[in-house]
Amino acid sequence: MTAEDADSREDFDEPLGHGPTVRGLWRAARAGRMPHALLFTGPAGIGKFRAARWFMLGLYCERGIPAEGSAPCGECGPCKRVIAASHLDVFTVDLLQTPADERPEELKIGRFVRRERDSDWDGPTVDEFLALRAAEGGWRVVLVREMERANVAAQNSILKMLEEPAPWVLWILECSRKNDLLPTIASRCVQVQFERLPQTEVTSWLAARGVARERAAQLARWSRGSPGEALRSLAQREWELRGLLVETLRGGAPPLAAAAALWELDGTFEGKTAKAVERARARTALDLAIACLRDLALASEGQPADDLQHGDLAALGLELARSPARLRTTLELLLDLRRDVESNIDPPMLLDRAFLALAPAVATKTAGAR
Ligand SMILES: [Zn+2]
Repeated sequence: MTAEDADSREDFDEPLGHGPTVRGLWRAARAGRMPHALLFTGPAGIGKFRAARWFMLGLYCERGIPAEGSAPCGECGPCKRVIAASHLDVFTVDLLQTPADERPEELKIGRFVRRERDSDWDGPTVDEFLALRAAEGGWRVVLVREMERANVAAQNSILKMLEEPAPWVLWILECSRKNDLLPTIASRCVQVQFERLPQTEVTSWLAARGVARERAAQLARWSRGSPGEALRSLAQREWELRGLLVETLRGGAPPLAAAAALWELDGTFEGKTAKAVERARARTALDLAIACLRDLALASEGQPADDLQHGDLAALGLELARSPARLRTTLELLLDLRRDVESNIDPPMLLDRAFLALAPAVATKTAGAR
């Protein structure tokens, strides 16, 4: 576990924008109306898992489940133990706590039910946790992050456990892609829907973390009100990356030099091998180029630029935007390249092709001088 991934006090603070939702759940808990399973759903990166942690802290705080306007103290014994991940009545399944270079793609059944063989997990399992008595009395919580990563066998094992609810056991399943869940799991849970945050709120939040105001506003816009997505964008240097894409589109930078400059940017990309990290970077770059061209196409079809993440590009008078046919073929090429990232094709070569396609077809002053 890296220092970044380790739970910290801050991870258990009031989640940006979701305080009222959590307070509603505490109200239900105080009134004895807590179901045995909650499904926290909504777009990725908006703070569902944070909300789950804060909610859970409130269930354990020695001062009682927080009443209106108050919050878990974070100081008492149970609060400290929950924050330090040492509370014996809390069981968290969180793939993100596995270092990136060892992290499996899927949550497998071995995380939930003890398997002697065919398992990449030899730590404690949910069924073992559920077989124990409450250590401190009160709730026993199973918190699963990114439930959509659970494969079918794992989901079936969870379903079996959900079908046999035990008193004072609460499942909190966090999920960004509800369609990837067995419908029977969703129907066994009370669903709590989380929404995107107002972009102004994400902007202020980023600015408070030291991001320059103009950049913060752009990141909030690109992330469509998802603080987690804005942080990812920041960590993966999308600001600088988009600068290279735009310069290429304008004919202000030779395409292959811009593509080469992209590999020189630092940035956090995950992968088990150097090749996988390269692929992750290529994915980010192509996804961003596709998003930009898609918004150019939508703007040319008459969608208001203000409604589009990259709507500001429409005002640049780009050559590509003036030719709908070329815009469409370029977009198609980028989509093909994006698919090729997943095969064994050399990522730098794919990005060279992408940047060559983005450059203006008509020689510009800069290109013509070469
Ligand atoms: Zn407390």
